[in-house]
Amino acid sequence: MALADKDRIFTNLYGFQPWNLKEAMARGAWDGTKDILAKGKEAIVEEMKASGLRGRGGAGFPTGLKWSFMPKEPPKDAAGNPKPSFLVINADESEPGSCKDREIMRHDPHLLFEGALVAGFAMGARAAYIYIRGEYIREAEVLFAAREEAYAAGLLGKNACGSGYDFDVFVHRGAGAYICGEETAMIESLEGKKGQPRLKPPFPAGAGLYGCPTTVNNVESIAVAPTIMRRGAAWFSSFGNENNRGTKLFQISGHVDKPCVVEEEMSISFRELIEKHCGGIRGGWDNLLAVIPGGSSVPLVPAKDIIDCPMDYDGLKAVGSGLGTAAIIVMDKSTDIVRAISRISYFYKHESCGQCTPCREGTGWMWRVMERLRTGDASVEEIDMLFQVTKQVEGHTICALGDAAAWPIQGLIRHFRPELERRIAENMPEAAE
Ligand code: NAD
Ligand code: SF4
Repeated sequence: MALADKDRIFTNLYGFQPWNLKEAMARGAWDGTKDILAKGKEAIVEEMKASGLRGRGGAGFPTGLKWSFMPKEPPKDAAGNPKPSFLVINADESEPGSCKDREIMRHDPHLLFEGALVAGFAMGARAAYIYIRGEYIREAEVLFAAREEAYAAGLLGKNACGSGYDFDVFVHRGAGAYICGEETAMIESLEGKKGQPRLKPPFPAGAGLYGCPTTVNNVESIAVAPTIMRRGAAWFSSFGNENNRGTKLFQISGHVDKPCVVEEEMSISFRELIEKHCGGIRGGWDNLLAVIPGGSSVPLVPAKDIIDCPMDYDGLKAVGSGLGTAAIIVMDKSTDIVRAISRISYFYKHESCGQCTPCREGTGWMWRVMERLRTGDASVEEIDMLFQVTKQVEGHTICALGDAAAWPIQGLIRHFRPELERRIAENMPEAAE
């Protein structure tokens, strides 16, 4: 059930051809965009809903449904003037393990700009802002150049694509903070403020950028929209399982023979994905220890549970984890699993914006205990205490970073407790005679 080449949306994922407008058009980008817009806003939103596309940034919220939250009539400001609406495209790809949006921006940027117009039109947005992570320097250069091409060809700006609709796209570079990938921190950052998450609700559709209706979507979610509109919701939803529709970019790193980013059918099994695209596990399947299947924010899954698991939202939930961004980190038996999770723990401590106490204090506290567990300098009681602390952090913070810091540790304790206890036992001083 692996994806056929004819069904791939990202046909230039590896950059074998130039990204420029002429070549992108030859591959099908910007084909019939005016006709897509002519279907009307509601028809586009309904088609996207019918496609079953779920947000590709990690949370999996239904994309068409999110677009439908934007107000049909613009709300008024204090002076009675209509407020503009905005689309914000989240290109701040920073989740450890995630590198798929980077490939889209490097090699297929016109699909993203076309998607911005289609999505922006469907939700009545005046403009889109692409917020790209500061470290993506080359990718930002490509975006700036592709944007120039699209404006020069009349595809964006006034009367975009000859549709009668005026639509601008701006590219904004971030400055290297992971937290600015959280949608409300991104909005704050775009407004020129310190990137710290806002409390939700209100969700951005109610009060977003400059207090105006805003939708924040991931790069992949936007870049697949034009092809869905061209080929139809039925085509897209013919891939994957119920509730897990479409094709998806998977990013496989770690102990496989050939790490890669690949577009595949949603719900493909882990085994098939790895055998088909990565040349297998380093040292063979018996050498597999565990997998983090959705970027560092989701709990690891031990080898026995992942091998035949469908790589989708429901399949990974059933084994106590999640699809997240589909950034699959494969770890073989040479991995020091406690050190790996401790390193992830340090990442979240470092990236916490410090706004709420359970995250600010908890991430540092959890990392320090993780380090003692790594060296075996903790007590067995501290394993339970650490688990309790992760439960105190989870669900008690303004944004999902608190959960993201708690879940990898919970996964470690659930599946590798004997390893933690072994380290403590081996480091115990000899009992006195
Ligand atoms: P979330 O579930 O709070 O929200 C997901 C989206 O749905 C948001 O846009 C939100 O506004 C919208 N939404 C949810 N409920 C809504 C409602 N009732 N009404 C209107 N809109 C609603 O998740 P989140 O905090 O946005 O994202 C967390 C995810 O981000 C994690 O699962 C993680 O995998 C992922 N993540 C990705 C990266 C990356 O580099 N791509 C980095 C960090 C985290
Ligand atoms: Fe900031 Fe952490 Fe609170 Fe998120 S959970 S708002 S990162 S302190």
